[in-house]
Amino acid sequence: MKTILVTGGAGFIGSHLCEKLLEQGNHVVCLDNLFTGSMVNIRHLLKNKNFEFIKHDIIEPFFYKGRNKGEGRIYQIYNLACPASPVHYQFNAIRTIKANTIGVINMLGLARMHKARFLQASTSEVYGDPLVHPQPESYRGNVNTIGPRACYDEGKRVAETLCFDYNRQNNVDICVVRIFNTYGSKMAINDGRVVSNFIVQALHDKPITIYGDGTQTRSFCYVSDMVDGLITAMNKKGFKGPVNLGNPDEFTVLELAKKIIKLTNSGSKVIFKALPEDDPLQRKPVIKKAISELNWQPTISLDIGLKETIIYFKNKVA
Ligand code: UDP
Repeated sequence: MKTILVTGGAGFIGSHLCEKLLEQGNHVVCLDNLFTGSMVNIRHLLKNKNFEFIKHDIIEPFFYKGRNKGEGRIYQIYNLACPASPVHYQFNAIRTIKANTIGVINMLGLARMHKARFLQASTSEVYGDPLVHPQPESYRGNVNTIGPRACYDEGKRVAETLCFDYNRQNNVDICVVRIFNTYGSKMAINDGRVVSNFIVQALHDKPITIYGDGTQTRSFCYVSDMVDGLITAMNKKGFKGPVNLGNPDEFTVLELAKKIIKLTNSGSKVIFKALPEDDPLQRKPVIKKAISELNWQPTISLDIGLKETIIYFKNKVA
């Protein structure tokens, strides 16, 4: 049995990942400071003897010895710890930067100590408001270094740099994946991102809040596809990335709103609000590299994924 550390393990993607890694027979150590993560996401895992939850903020150093004999060597680290919704990462911008610098250094140091393979959850936000469309990994991005999104975008960019420097300088075995918009069960009601906002609004027959004119685009990946992608990248020996993980089917925000109104049979109307500063106008991953090097591509269409997500939110708001 192998010990695998998941930081941000009580979060939306992290908790799905912990579940899957446990299913695969691993000993899973979940770190989370519970800022956006929630015990509700992992409550059902706590009774599993192979699951360990430790409330910890990666901004502080972390050392691990294992509860039982044989558990003490960390074999892999998935570093997912960081608020990912613009509302949450902008709430305390300095803390977001700390998570992506000091926090990443702490976790890379831990990886070095344990000779663990380290996967960094990077983001499509490294491309900023992209001038190249769709975005291949070779595109170097268009980020406003001083804008409200920079704490996250620049934080994640330097986190990528740290991974490659720890690899070059300290031989840490690293892998960088760039996660594009992802949705599904275990998202918080107050997550603030577009899919959860629209579904919750639609279920309450409240106005659907479109920021801007709704012509901006995003490409939405269902969480089970994303988790498969993360595990595949981690287990591909020697693969460093960076690699885009996301669903290349692109939709405008207005199209998404209409889809959600239809699928929920909602009486909601759309209303238009101001577009937040630096909100990217378009986003769609080129996933050629994931297909050719990892043999991974998403399998769940937006309609199917939304139906599942709507069922989850229906139970949550009931
Ligand atoms: N958005 C919106 N209404 C909402 C929440 C988000 O129109 O209630 C828009 C947002 O301005 C952006 C897109 O939906 O253009 C995706 O936003 P999200 O916060 O989900 O993630 P992002 O891709 O911007 O990080």
